[in-house]
Amino acid sequence: MDDCVFCKIVQGSLPSRRVYEDETVVAFHDVNPVGPIHVLIVPRTHFPTMNDLAEDDKILSHMGKAARNIARDLGIDRDGYRFYVNVGRGGGQVVFHLHAHLIAGRSLGMALIKIAVGFAIVSRKLLALLGLADRRM
Ligand code: 5GP
Ligand code: ZN
Repeated sequence: MDDCVFCKIVQGSLPSRRVYEDETVVAFHDVNPVGPIHVLIVPRTHFPTMNDLAEDDKILSHMGKAARNIARDLGIDRDGYRFYVNVGRGGGQVVFHLHAHLIAGRSLGMALIKIAVGFAIVSRKLLALLGLADRRM
């Protein structure tokens, strides 16, 4: 597909940070990661969505096996990771070349929320200790 960004990445005409490739799939870091590790696993062949696969197509299981290998190589297989496919606009798909997301590690957003909650709890306790707030808090 001429106008497909993932076809261009697979062919090498667009740059990407590859982490894995074999005869069926290519995997590379997402340009806009939602976690410390965010890899996309993309078939070399262009299928717009998972719905375009033949029923007996083995591509999804191949993508799953590739994810397991990548997770092992990146050292995230023991701690765990998310592996999912968005299907169609209603499923959150934005790039219409079938791909799976492999995401691991705590996101910065979640870490900041935890720090903010911890800070609020400590502040309230401190205020209560100083008698500046209701001690029942
Ligand atoms: P979708 O929402 O379609 O399942 O996910 C598409 C993903 O592709 C998004 O996470 C987005 O950040 C990523 N993406 C879009 N364009 C590029 C690109 O040119 N390079 C890389 N590495 N990732 C991209
Ligand atoms: Zn494509």
